[in-house]
Amino acid sequence: MKKINQYIETVFTEQDSVLEGVISSIEEKGMPSISVSPSSGKLLTMLVSVAGAKNVLEIGALGGYSGICLARGFNSPEGQLTSLELEEQYAELAQSNLTKAGFGEQVSYMTGAALENLGKLAAENRKFDFFFIDADKVNYENYLNGCLKLAEPGALIVADNVLARGTVADDAAETSRHTEVMRAFNQVVANHPQLESLLIPIGDGLTVSKVKN
Ligand code: SAM
Repeated sequence: MKKINQYIETVFTEQDSVLEGVISSIEEKGMPSISVSPSSGKLLTMLVSVAGAKNVLEIGALGGYSGICLARGFNSPEGQLTSLELEEQYAELAQSNLTKAGFGEQVSYMTGAALENLGKLAAENRKFDFFFIDADKVNYENYLNGCLKLAEPGALIVADNVLARGTVADDAAETSRHTEVMRAFNQVVANHPQLESLLIPIGDGLTVSKVKN
């Protein structure tokens, strides 16, 4: 899987000084190096653009790498990204990086536990046409249910790290909590009556689910 990913990155992604700046800023702050891979980021941009999404909800901002990739997919300056992030300090860095990338007016951050903020967005009757789930893995299924309450018909819901570094495909006897959580999530999205889903094995794996009309 690592070799295939390296091949994809080499052939299909280019050097990107804006995103490299985000990675450096994360390292400088001593934050974890767990942004999406360049190829996953490129896929996010393409999906937002092809879907013509105008209201994107991200769960898990870190330093703004995936936020920039999502915002790059907007087909017009009216596109809006709402991003939920637990850590105030991370959201501040992400806001600064989105501003440097030219998307400062198109992003807003809600800090604190994402589950609480999903509830607030539902109470405000907010609607979104694209979701990106990339926060604490144990809550993925809860996040999926929260996103479904906020989803326009036909919305896309994308979730990262669903391959758990390839371990989801290992012998079922050799398992960790993380692997089990991702296997269970994959089963839920694959069999959900409201979703049409597929797993795309780039980066650490992304599920892409379309909310049925
Ligand atoms: N999507 C980011 C990117 O690619 O640039 C990376 C996100 S990182 C893998 C996961 C993020 O989720 C971290 O910034 C972490 O603080 C945040 N997070 C963890 N638990 C959370 C929670 N309960 N609510 C909101 N955010 C949470």
